[in-house]
Amino acid sequence: MYRQKLIVGNWKMNKTTADAVALVEGIVVAVGKRTDVDVVLCPPYTALASASRALEGSGVKLGAQNMHPEPSGAFTGEISAPMLRELFATHVILGHSERRSYFAETDAFINQKVISALKNQLRPILCVGETLAERESGATLRVIQKQTEGGLEGVSKEMAAGIILAYEPVWAIGTGKVATAAQAQEVHAFIRGLLAKLFTEPVAQRTRILYGGSMKPANAGELLNQSDIDGGLIGGASLEVRSFADLINAAAAVK
Ligand code: PEP
Repeated sequence: MYRQKLIVGNWKMNKTTADAVALVEGIVVAVGKRTDVDVVLCPPYTALASASRALEGSGVKLGAQNMHPEPSGAFTGEISAPMLRELFATHVILGHSERRSYFAETDAFINQKVISALKNQLRPILCVGETLAERESGATLRVIQKQTEGGLEGVSKEMAAGIILAYEPVWAIGTGKVATAAQAQEVHAFIRGLLAKLFTEPVAQRTRILYGGSMKPANAGELLNQSDIDGGLIGGASLEVRSFADLINAAAAVK
């Protein structure tokens, strides 16, 4: 089953609005008329509106890095799905390991966000991944299963068409340590199997599963060539036009 590669930039808490617009403009030029790779940029909230304007007329899509499950209300400091939709965001990263560890997000809370995103026509990019201690104790697949099933509870087969998964081993995020292609492929295939059980084989075959964790132009080719790795969720290497454009080119080069 052909799944077009998807490269997502997670800028985290980086870039002022002016810097964000400059980076968006550079990426839009680098992507040009290319349509063989899907590209999503996830700037911080403060830069979403300006980034959205700078993306107008390009094929590059806009995403957020998080959101609250409720549409509105007394949730100081939070942002909702309708607010993101108003800015023409199409994607939202949910359950990133930094949210899970620094902000104590649980699978149940992440699940509420996934449902809210889907109901609001936003595509959730649900992140799952094990810590180093979990990998070393042989718990990797158990952790991945718990986070995947927990995050997707109550998602119907019909709604599941909107989801994107991201396998991000916590020990590889921002550390320069990248999972080997074989390690990543094993987990990606396992996640696809879970999706087949949860939703049906055709849904699993259509769903894109991204790898994230120190993906760089130098290691992207081997990872992206694995049969169940459908793209990348990129942190550090998404902050500069050259490295991000090289990752897009690496995705395009995969046959
Ligand atoms: C991330 O935070 O989603 C990520 C993959 O970061 P990095 O590429 O910097 O490891």
